Amino acid sequence: MSLADWEPVIGLEVHAQLRTKSKAFCGCPVVFGAPPNTAVCPVCLGYPGTLPVLNREMVALALRVMTAMDCTIHERSIFARKNYFYPDLPKGYQISQYDRPLATGGGLEVSAQGRTRRVTLNRIHLEEDAGKSMHEFPWDDVPGGVSLVDLNRAGTPLVEIVTEPDIGSAEEAFDYLGKLRRLVRWVDASDGNMEEGSLRCDANVSVRRKGETRLGTKIEVKNLNSIAHVKKAIEHEFERQVEELEAGRPLRQETRLFDPGAGVTKPMRSKEEAMDYRYFQEPDLGDVVVPPDLLDEVRASMPELPAPRARRLESALGLPAADAETICSARPFADYYESAVAHHAENPKAIANWLLSDLLGRMTDADRLAGRVPLPAAHLAGLVRRIDDGTISGKIAKELLPELIASGKSPDALIDEKGMKQVSDEGPIRDAIAAIVNANPKQVETYRSGKTATFGWFVGQVMKATSGKANPAVVNRLLKEALEG
Ligand code: ADP
Ligand code: MG
Ligand code: ZN
Repeated sequence: MSLADWEPVIGLEVHAQLRTKSKAFCGCPVVFGAPPNTAVCPVCLGYPGTLPVLNREMVALALRVMTAMDCTIHERSIFARKNYFYPDLPKGYQISQYDRPLATGGGLEVSAQGRTRRVTLNRIHLEEDAGKSMHEFPWDDVPGGVSLVDLNRAGTPLVEIVTEPDIGSAEEAFDYLGKLRRLVRWVDASDGNMEEGSLRCDANVSVRRKGETRLGTKIEVKNLNSIAHVKKAIEHEFERQVEELEAGRPLRQETRLFDPGAGVTKPMRSKEEAMDYRYFQEPDLGDVVVPPDLLDEVRASMPELPAPRARRLESALGLPAADAETICSARPFADYYESAVAHHAENPKAIANWLLSDLLGRMTDADRLAGRVPLPAAHLAGLVRRIDDGTISGKIAKELLPELIASGKSPDALIDEKGMKQVSDEGPIRDAIAAIVNANPKQVETYRSGKTATFGWFVGQVMKATSGKANPAVVNRLLKEALEG
C-alpha cells in the first residue's frame, strides 16, 4: 500500500447547540443534566394538535455564527420536515431546513502543516435536536436489557454547519474544528462543549488518487466526541479506504461509528439517501424572515473576531504570531490581556510573556476560556511597570508572584511591605563588591588572567550579598570597574 499516491477528501457536518434560554419551538427551558423528562411539554413531546412557534433568539444567535463566517444570509428561508422513525423523535420527523437554508457560502481560514487556506461552507441551517436514548438497562424480565428515552433535549435549537468537501487532511480538519469552536464561543452563540454534546461533528471521508479531480465514495463517520477523535478517525479512514481500494474491493456509501478505544471505525448502516427522509415543507411554520434591520442589529453587535484581533495584536503591539494566537484563543482571555496593556501601554510584550508563561501555567483550560487569570489585570500591569522602571528586578518579580496571587495585594503595596525595592544606590553595592573582591583573591586572579566567563559567578555573589535586591545593571557596571580597573 502506498498512501503517498492517495489523498483524503473531507467534508465536516457540525451541529452547534445555540445558547438560548428556551427551546426552538416551545417555551421549555434548555437544560443539561436535569432529571429525565422534566423539561418537556406537549409541543416537544410531539402531541397531536400542538403547534410550533419559532424562537426568535434562535434565529438571532444563528445569525451571529453566519455573520462571523461571512455567509450569505437569505432574507427568506423555510423549514422542512425530515421524516424518520426513532424513539427519541416523538413527532416522527425533525424540523430542519433543506433546500432553502437560512445561510449558504462563507468559510473559515485554517492553517495546517505550514499552509493557510480557506475551508468553504456549503450551508448553515437551523434545526431542532432529538431526545436521548440510553440502551441496555438491566430489567427484571428482559434478559437483553431495555432502552430508556429522555426527551429533555428534544427541540433544543441547533445550527448545522456543513463544509464543502474541500478539507485535505486530518490536520486541517483538526484546525477547522478548533477554530469553529472558538468562533461560536467568541460570538456567544454556543458553549461549544463537545463533552456535553453542545458541539457535535460527523466526518465525511473519501479518498482519491492524487491528480484525480472526481470525488470518491464517501463514508460518514459518527460518534466523534472530541476534536482529537475526529482527527484519529479521519487518519484511520484514509488508511482503511486506500487499503480496500488497492485490494480491489470497491467501497460503498455507508455510515460508520468510531470506536475510540480501538481507534478504528466500524460499520453502522448503509447510508440513507435524502429521498428516504421524504423531505417536505413544514406546514405548521411560516417562512423564516430576516428583516434587514435585524441583520444590521446583529452586525453592529458583533465583537472584533479572533483572526483579525490576533493580527492587530501582532501589528499594533508587536507580538509574535504564536503569542497573539494564544491570547486570542478565547475572547475573555484576550480581553484580560488588552485590559492589562491599557494599564501599562509601554510594554505589551512583557505583559504577554508574563501572561503566557507564569500565569497561564497556573490556569486550567476552563480558566483560560473564562478569562479567569489569578491576578487582576491592573496588578499584572503594575508588576511589569515596576520591573520596567527599575523598582524591582525580574527575578524579584517572579519571587513575589505567588504572594501577589495569594494575598490579592497590589504590587506596589507588596513591594513596600516586604522591602523589596531594588537597590540602585552605588554605595552599598560598591561595599558588597569590595568585600567579595577582598575575600576571593583566587577568583579575582582567574578572572584577570583572561577567564572572563567567571564574571557571572561574581554577579551571583553580589546578588546574594544584597538579598537579590541590587539593580543588575548597576552591579554589572561597578563589578567590571572593580575587576578590570
Ligand atoms: P448527504 O446528502 O449524504 O448528507 P451532502 O451532499 O449533504 O450529502 O454532504 C454531506 C457532507 O459530506 C458535506 O460536508 C460534504 O462536503 C461532504 N461530502 C460530500 N461528498 C463527499 C465526498 N465524496 N467525500 C468527502 N466528503 C463529501
Ligand atoms: Mg447531509
Ligand atoms: Zn416543550
